[in-house]
Amino acid sequence: MQRFDVLIVGGGHAGAQAAIALRQGGFEGSVAIVGDEPELPYERPPLSKEYLSREKTFERILIRPEKFWTERHVEMLLGQSVTTVDPAAHSVTLGDGRSIGYGSLIWAAGGNPRRLSCSGATLQGVHAVRTRADVDRLMVELENSENIAVVGGGYIGLEAAAVLTKFGKKVVLLEALPRVLARVAGEALSRFYENEHRAHGVDVRLEQRIDCLEGENGRVTGVRFVDGSVVPAGIVIVGIGIEPAIGPLRDAGAACSNGVEVDEYCRTSLPDIYAVGDCALHTNAFADGARIRLESVQNANDQATTAAKAIMGKPEAYHAVPWFWSNQYDLKLQTVGLSIGHDATVLRGDPESRSFSVIYLKGGKVLALDCVNAVKDYVQGRALVINGASPDPVRLADPATPLKELAVPA
Ligand SMILES: Cc1cc2nc3c(=O)[nH]c(=O)nc-3n(C[C@H](O)[C@H](O)[C@H](O)COP(=O)(O)OP(=O)(O)OC[C@H]3O[C@@H](n4cnc5c(N)ncnc54)[C@H](O)[C@@H]3O)c2cc1C
Repeated sequence: MQRFDVLIVGGGHAGAQAAIALRQGGFEGSVAIVGDEPELPYERPPLSKEYLSREKTFERILIRPEKFWTERHVEMLLGQSVTTVDPAAHSVTLGDGRSIGYGSLIWAAGGNPRRLSCSGATLQGVHAVRTRADVDRLMVELENSENIAVVGGGYIGLEAAAVLTKFGKKVVLLEALPRVLARVAGEALSRFYENEHRAHGVDVRLEQRIDCLEGENGRVTGVRFVDGSVVPAGIVIVGIGIEPAIGPLRDAGAACSNGVEVDEYCRTSLPDIYAVGDCALHTNAFADGARIRLESVQNANDQATTAAKAIMGKPEAYHAVPWFWSNQYDLKLQTVGLSIGHDATVLRGDPESRSFSVIYLKGGKVLALDCVNAVKDYVQGRALVINGASPDPVRLADPATPLKELAVPA
């Protein structure tokens, strides 16, 4: 049986970074990545941005070129899925029946796009945006479809809507809740993005209750709502979140709920098995100690580094500041911190100017910032989040007061 000192399951952001961090840290043992996608690790964010808009080729979104992995002796077992984990034997089984042994296992399997549960959800022309293969399939079909329905007003749905509108497609964006970005941002930001999309020609419809997807000859033709109305659509893009990919670990007995439970060193409840990235449920200091999963490149990279350090015997608890970005049209949103549990918001700048920030507070303390075309606020606002600063809200709202002047610890 083949055996690796560290076996990484999942060749996405977290899996790739785990291997990079091990080699950067001087780890000389054998390392392999098993990934069920056929490609070398690539960046996922451009899939709804520059890759979809064809501004970047696939080669430009590779996390590292092929020779990087070869030179560092990171073995790539691609197009292979781990189906079972045997924690007692320290081995996994692949889809082709092969067994592979490990010293330490890093589970970095991310998540699978949630599907619509209504009828018609599996018709041809219904797409997720999670992998390169998803987007390649979508791009081929775009040639022949003018009407596109995007289901879900989260970041991925909004980014896809922005790109497709630029292509001249007729896009309707369907959100079940009363505002877009409802789960991740405050109302001011939601309303700003709804207005922007409408101004660019997207038909944004809120509180939409889908009955089913309609089709003809196996291909989607439209979205039917519970009130009987129908929106025609030759393509439906579904962006309604992910389910963490944790099946084999759960079956192996790892403590799991909405993700694999990990401690501050990304250790699961099973010996020598770590979990990192989108699938890892952890206690986050920036969420007031709540147990959450974060779906961001920052979290994938930082947790991967945490696991690698623990494996190398240099443990450092995970305590990274969350950050995230989203590009839509000419708007660059940068967020720092987590707004979970905020009880007040401060608007800094005028959304009409298309450069402003929303600052989230709890008990007067800054939790998070959403900065739209406001790089300075983002850069200087980090310290407010890290220090847990409690600035005067009037000064906070005044764009003439640099945030660095307000970043004194509470
Ligand atoms: C379209 C899109 C846009 C995004 N934009 C942003 C953004 O702007 N900013 C940001 O911070 N984040 C963004 N994200 C989120 C970010 O990409 C994810 O948080 C990040 O990719 C998580 O990394 P991961 O390694 O945990 O999971 P993934 O990158 O999903 O990698 C997991 C890999 O494991 C593989 N796998 C799963 N199960 C198995 C198995 N049993 N055996 C072998 N392999 C397996 C999967 O196929 C996948 O290749 C975006 C995500 C998407 C999809």
